Amino acid sequence: MIKKINADVVVIGAGLVGLAAAIALTLQHRNVVLISNCKPAMLSQPESAAWDERVYALTPAVESWLTSLDVWGKVDTARVSAIDAMHVWGADSELLLKAEDANLAKLGLIIENQNLMAALWQKVDALGVTVITDAECTDIEYTQADVQLSLENKASKDAFKLAAKLIVAADGIHSWVRKKLNVGVAHKNYQQTAIVANFLAEEPHKNIARQWFNKHDTLALLPLPEGMVSMVWSLPTQQAAQLLLLSAATLSVSVQAQSKGMLGDLKLIGQVKSFELHQQTALRFIDKRVVFVGDAAHQIHPMAGQGVNLGFRDVMKLAALSDKLHTMQDIGDTGFLRQYERARKADVVAMNYLTAGLDYLFASEQTFFRKLTLLGLQQINRQSTIKKVLIQQAVS
Ligand SMILES: Cc1cc2nc3c(=O)[nH]c(=O)nc-3n(C[C@H](O)[C@H](O)[C@H](O)COP(=O)(O)OP(=O)(O)OC[C@H]3O[C@@H](n4cnc5c(N)ncnc54)[C@H](O)[C@@H]3O)c2cc1C
Repeated sequence: MIKKINADVVVIGAGLVGLAAAIALTLQHRNVVLISNCKPAMLSQPESAAWDERVYALTPAVESWLTSLDVWGKVDTARVSAIDAMHVWGADSELLLKAEDANLAKLGLIIENQNLMAALWQKVDALGVTVITDAECTDIEYTQADVQLSLENKASKDAFKLAAKLIVAADGIHSWVRKKLNVGVAHKNYQQTAIVANFLAEEPHKNIARQWFNKHDTLALLPLPEGMVSMVWSLPTQQAAQLLLLSAATLSVSVQAQSKGMLGDLKLIGQVKSFELHQQTALRFIDKRVVFVGDAAHQIHPMAGQGVNLGFRDVMKLAALSDKLHTMQDIGDTGFLRQYERARKADVVAMNYLTAGLDYLFASEQTFFRKLTLLGLQQINRQSTIKKVLIQQAVS
């Protein structure tokens, strides 16, 4: 027998962005159902003393928004580190941006995936959002008044049909919804892999996020509590494969050399993980009664540390627009969805240009571009006004 459920909004995907969407729309008194393809046991984040290799740099604007959703209050702030400054090296030059240059308390913060996920799940739970776990979506159909999602439980094979005004597709880079609705993507394979790991640093990191740009090779050492740093090292896949074969001690020495010994001896803590890097943008951010958010809509290079911030900004915009609707207005209306798409395109395009452009500039064989980059960093370093503008953009 098929179990029928009516909702205002169905959110597909319980990653960071889908969870935030479910919370933001439930807080607007919309009846939301959240669909997860994971087993229930995987949903509760175990309290673990081990440090998660997966961390995010969040902007202060995102932190404020998560506070307004009552999510930030559930974060374990003892495991969060502020970013007081960013120090960037590239093309034999350097740039230092300090929060105080723009009269800010901080430029951003670093948080572990497990810490943020746990806070989001606690809020979903507190709001009593209906969650269907271990789900496999099978079909999307339309009636005159709504969109209907069919799914089944992977274990019990129980079937569900959900009728809603809107589907929020937050199902990540390989989005099932995007494929089902034949929404194409513009795709660029960087042929790069990001290696992530945490290290204990001999020298204090002073809450500075450090980044070294070389040809198709970007190393970031981001501050964590207790004198640790989180490494995100993006480099050509073949070179990454070599690094992944190294012992903990030899990898630590390589990272130390690449970071010019800036933080002294480094000791690997925990595991080393790797991610292939792509830039992918959906050709449309909306379809009939569907919006795409987060990595389902866009995936960018991690060098700017902006991927999930961009996804959260999708949800902020969707929620802000939906908040303006009258009670009787349809949240799945095409005109409403077009407003969302228009509003989000510029931000995503700008971020694509920034990350792809930085990779190109620092990799360019042409002396002209390398000199331009060098000159650019030197000039910016001297200009307090440009620094302020850059900082304002980085924290929004
Ligand atoms: C190495 C690396 C470092 C990064 N560092 C940063 C950083 O510092 N700052 C930053 O802002 N961003 C960073 N990012 C980017 C960030 O990780 C992503 O942008 C973010 O995780 C995307 O979240 P999401 O919820 O959109 O997608 P995902 O995290 O992919 O979540 C999608 C969810 O949908 C579920 N799902 C998939 N298909 C289905 C289905 N058919 N039915 C139901 N559920 C489904 C999945 O199980 C998953 O739970 C980094 C990325 C990488 C690779």
